[in-house]
Order: sequence, then structure tokens, then C-alpha cells
Amino acid sequence: MSTPEFVIVGGGLAAGTAAVTLREEGYDGHLTLIVAEAHKPYIRPPLSKGYLAELDESELWVQQDDWWRDHDVEVRTGQHARTLNLRGRSVELEGGGSVPFDRLLIATGATPKKLDVPGGDADGIHYLRTIEDSRGIREATEDGEKKVVVVGSGWIGMEVAATVRGFGNEVTVVSHAKVPLSTALGDELGEVFAQLHLDHGVRLIRGAGVEGFGVSDGRVTSVRYDGGEVEADVVVVGTGIQPLVRIAQDAGLQTEKGILVDAGMRTGVDGVFAVGDAADPMHPVVGQRLRSEHWANAIGTGRTAALNMLDRGVEYDDVPYFYTDQFDLGMEYSGYRPLMEDAHVVYRGDVPGREFVSFWVTPDGRVVAGMNVNVWDVNEDVQALIRAARPVDESRLADPSVPLGDLVAGA
Ligand code: FAD
Repeated sequence: MSTPEFVIVGGGLAAGTAAVTLREEGYDGHLTLIVAEAHKPYIRPPLSKGYLAELDESELWVQQDDWWRDHDVEVRTGQHARTLNLRGRSVELEGGGSVPFDRLLIATGATPKKLDVPGGDADGIHYLRTIEDSRGIREATEDGEKKVVVVGSGWIGMEVAATVRGFGNEVTVVSHAKVPLSTALGDELGEVFAQLHLDHGVRLIRGAGVEGFGVSDGRVTSVRYDGGEVEADVVVVGTGIQPLVRIAQDAGLQTEKGILVDAGMRTGVDGVFAVGDAADPMHPVVGQRLRSEHWANAIGTGRTAALNMLDRGVEYDDVPYFYTDQFDLGMEYSGYRPLMEDAHVVYRGDVPGREFVSFWVTPDGRVVAGMNVNVWDVNEDVQALIRAARPVDESRLADPSVPLGDLVAGA
């Protein structure tokens, strides 16, 4: 029997995790990663936080350089997969050449949505996805003397605002949302982050759609929004991402918000899998698709796909998780966003002091999401409460003297 060929298209955390899992789980056939970027797999969360602040590369890599060599993984950096030939079982590369596969993993991730408004191509307007993007923002803002305008009040916008404010810049966030992070957390908890930024001297312009940029000599000078204009030396746009699904679509794979996969990360074509930001997996617990754009999802789906490339028959059923660090606030969130719609929030701890846990509780008393803010070592219990899916006593949930473990155990 010939050695199987496993090919992974993409070089982010999902691709890297899958490759590491394959080797850890004993796959010893040929393994190729086709990676458009110039780097071996790396993680992106530090690009808006620690790396942007310190330019310390050590925390970025999924594995150090020698790991890939020692484990005989062929990482073809700087190579772009152009076409997936699923019938002929090969990946065609831009610039010629093709790579045959027996099993294929698509981990192409996503790219920032571009603001298509007048002046949008001016110098000084940045997007953030890659190491190079992060370095560019750092170089433009590190002297701390700039007027920086961040467009968008989602995770990346708010994290960049916090980091570049930390350099001393004058920072304004302009967003069509009335409350930062409301899409993820709802208005009530989004206001906690709004206040955090206001307390640190960030200006928030809310409910304002950006209509264009003022430009002089090719450089951005201002951001124009419905209702006004704000001066800008540097602009960072963080208005969401677009999953990179075109090659999957062109190959005939089904896509909606991402590449459709089952809970085992399988597409509709035998031996072809998709993961991470590019995928739209079925979640076996909530019984609907839960597309996620987060670090933990890249790890979990990457690992699941690798195991199923080895025919292990596993499903990814983790509670979605993410974290952020902004100024002196660190938080972890776990939960099912679609189930939060009817929920109310129960607090445990000191909300004005920003040291608390919030729980989203459904009308029938189940915890469907939880967020710990500057409180640590509780997120596993929060997840266990969500998984338990049974009614809890709200007064005990709110009482910090009651261990969460007791509530998990139903005591
Ligand atoms: P990606 O990391 O996007 O990797 C995909 C790779 O595939 C890229 O290298 C791309 O160039 C390559 N590729 C695409 N098409 C092709 C092709 N045709 N051929 C070859 N290669 C191709 N999540 C959190 O939970 N917490 C955080 O605090 C957090 N912070 C973040 C901060 C920033 C600045 C960013 C950008 C993201 C952050 N995230 C965070 C989200 C998290 O990083 C992503 O969910 C994760 O990177 C997704 O991993 P991925 O491997 O699916 O995709």
C-alpha cells in the first residue's frame, strides 16, 4: 500500500493544530501545509494586544521552527492554493504545480472586510490580520503622538484602541453600533467595555456610520461619518471579517456563512474537511450551525478534523469560548450566543469595580453563557454549568460565597 498524502491548505492556528495533532496521534504519512503567508503557523490574538505592544514574537508560533523539521512536515510557505480538484484529488497552486492528496483539510481562515467608501485606499488606513499588519500599526502609532481613529467597536477595534491608547495616542472609536461589543455580549455588558475605554480617555462616537475619509497628498487626514468628522493621522479599520471560502465554493463544496461541515468537520465530499474561521460547523448540542471566529474554535475544530482524518469518529461539541485583554481588564467568555436572546443577566461580584462574573440565564433558569471579568480559574465551572443545562437558584448563582462547583453538582 502506498503512503497516504494528507494536505492542509492554510497556515493559521487551525491548520497548525491539525498538523500537530496528526503527528501526535501517530500519522506518519506525508503531510504538506500550503501556506499563503511567509510564516509558519502562528496565532493572531497577540497581534492586537501583546505583540502590538511589545513586538515579542516568542508567543506567536504554534510550534518552533525545528518542530516542523523534526516531525517531517512539509510547510510550503508563500504558496497560494488556486484550485481544489476534488475529483482528481489534487491542489493546484498559483504560479503552477500541483500537490496530490488522499485527504484534504481546508483551513483558509478569513480576511478583514474592506470599507468601500471614498478615500478608503489612502495611506495611513490600516487593517489587521497578519504579523505585517500589526507591525505596520505599531510603527504608525508607537511614538504616542498621533490622532488614531479606530473604525468599528468589535473585538479587534476595541483591543487596538486600548493598546494604542497605551502608547499615549489620542484615540477615537467610531462605530455604527450604539454599544461596543454588543453583537457578542449584548448592550448591558457591552457598556462595561464602553465605560472601561472612557475611563482610559478613549473617545467613543456611537451610532455613526463611516461615509468616507478626508485625504491630502494621498494620506488620510480625517474620518467622515453621518453627523460629523474627526481628524485622523492613523486609521485602523476593524469592521469584521470575510471567511475565505472561494476556492471551496469553486470546487463545488457547499457554503453559507462558511464552508458547511458536520460536527466532525467533514464537508459533503469524502475525505475533505474544513475548519476554523472558514468553516460553518453543525454544533451537536445546540442542534444548529455555530460559526465561530475565535482562537479556541480554531484549536478545537483543527484537532477534531485531524482525528477524523484518521477515522476516529469524533465530534466537536465544546461550548464556544473566547477571551480578551483591554487595559487592566482581562476576561473569558463561554456560551451559546444564539441562546442568549431571551436570557437575563445575573451578576456575582463587583461590577463597578470590574471584578465579577456575569451569567446569562434563560426564563426557565438555565445558564447559557457566562463571562468572568478579572476573576480567574472559574471558566471551567462556568462551562460545566452551561453543559449541565439544568435550572439554577439565581440567588445562589449571585452569591460569591457559594462555590460554582456546588451549583454544577446541583447541590
Ligand atoms: P487564519 O488564522 O486566518 O489562518 C488562515 C491561513 O490560511 C492564513 O495564513 C491565510 O493566509 C492562509 N490561506 C488562505 N487562503 C489560502 C490559500 N488559498 N492558499 C494557501 N493559504 C491560504 N480570538 C480569540 O478567541 N481571542 C482573541 O483575543 C482574539 N484576538 C484576535 C486578534 C486579531 C488581531 C485577529 C486577527 C484575530 C483574533 N482572534 C481572537 C481570532 C482568532 O485569531 C481566529 O479565530 C483564528 O486565527 C482563526 O484561525 P484559522 O486558522 O481558522 O484562520
